[in-house]
Amino acid sequence: MDLTFTPAEERFRVELRAWLADNIPPRWRSRSFWSAIGAAEAFELRRDWERRKYDAGFAGISWPREYGGRGGTPGMQAIYDEETQRAGAPPTVNALGLAFLAPTVMAIGTDEQKRDIIGPMLRNEVIWCQGFSEPGAGSDLAALRTTGVLDGDEFVVNGQKVWTTNAVYADKMFALVRTEPGAQRHRGISMLLIDMRSDGVDARPLRQLSGASEFGEVFFTDVRVKVTDCLGGAGDGWSTAMLLLSFERGASGIAQYTAFRGQFDEIVAAAAAFGRTGDPVLRQRLASRIVELECLRYHSMHILTQIEKGAELGAESSLTKLQWSHTHQELWETFDDLLGPEATLTRPRPDADLRGMQHEAMWSRSVTIWGGSSQVQRNIIAERLLGLPR
Ligand SMILES: Cc1cc2nc3c(=O)[nH]c(=O)nc-3n(C[C@H](O)[C@H](O)[C@H](O)COP(=O)(O)OP(=O)(O)OC[C@H]3O[C@@H](n4cnc5c(N)ncnc54)[C@H](O)[C@@H]3O)c2cc1C
Repeated sequence: MDLTFTPAEERFRVELRAWLADNIPPRWRSRSFWSAIGAAEAFELRRDWERRKYDAGFAGISWPREYGGRGGTPGMQAIYDEETQRAGAPPTVNALGLAFLAPTVMAIGTDEQKRDIIGPMLRNEVIWCQGFSEPGAGSDLAALRTTGVLDGDEFVVNGQKVWTTNAVYADKMFALVRTEPGAQRHRGISMLLIDMRSDGVDARPLRQLSGASEFGEVFFTDVRVKVTDCLGGAGDGWSTAMLLLSFERGASGIAQYTAFRGQFDEIVAAAAAFGRTGDPVLRQRLASRIVELECLRYHSMHILTQIEKGAELGAESSLTKLQWSHTHQELWETFDDLLGPEATLTRPRPDADLRGMQHEAMWSRSVTIWGGSSQVQRNIIAERLLGLPR
């Protein structure tokens, strides 16, 4: 494991840190700012912020220059993740497009798709959402039932997607659609690039535990999609989806570690404000959290070293997902312990503005579900890393 960065990477850190210090308004660093403004305003602020970041040359850090990226190393990407978290930069509005769709288009897209998709995504002119899950198809994705029937040079799409992050804000969706009825489960699926403004697309927000609506459900009624808007071969959508999901392996966990370390400090500050830092049980729980956080940091550095060596991570990415999601969830369970029964109130401790922290605690319930649930990750680890029988 290599715990150091190169001189060029450290120079990049200095440049980025200075730019972030000049460009992030201090009020953005406060949770109460983001919880006080409406979701639509927050989305537009974040969208505009990313456009400015692109103009300053801090988008697509490790993407090739030919696609508008910076051509940086995995170490620079890790530094970017670390510094943006540390500076309190808002999260990207185009996470699914940038992390998954763009590298897939670079790998297997047509020249037109590369031209039309990558630049506008990097500049945040087009926001993407992911349409994989359906009411009867989550962990068992191949059970999906949304259909696309070929009619001339278009597919006619009917069906429903659910839990679609950014459903109501997205301009486009990369969706898995069954285009060959009667084919075996993993065959006859295509990945279609659907314009969310098309006739017949109905995106409805779903209200979460926290009151926010970060995801939604999307209904398709006779939506027409050109055959040229199929990514990868028609009927080959399963392999396209597996390629797309494999890009998650590029994520080392550094961004999560940095964010959670800051959250740990917030929880300790709240404990101090409530006069609870002398509580031996709470102290022990906080100590366990810091141990888990440091384990996450070392695991992240190990993964980064593997990426820099060009190693194929394979099922090891399941370890990363399992480790960061449980570290996050246990961290926020400790916050709930701190509040005690008041954690269930919409406004606990009226003297303190805890809404943002409560939102994070509620959000932490979801991290062991999306991106592959913990049970599914454990199956992968058991079968592929430990060699246990299926
Ligand atoms: C916040 C959030 C955002 C999301 N965003 C998106 C998005 O943008 N696009 C999208 O397509 N989807 C999205 N999802 C959906 C997500 O991918 C699914 O929720 C996830 O794949 C689980 O599927 P499911 O909800 O249908 O649960 P199920 O698959 O029905 O699972 C139910 C339970 O059974 C367990 N289970 C299932 N199969 C097995 C097995 N083989 N062995 C052991 N246990 C098993 C699961 O772990 C879980 O505990 C999002 C979900 C959340 C919570």
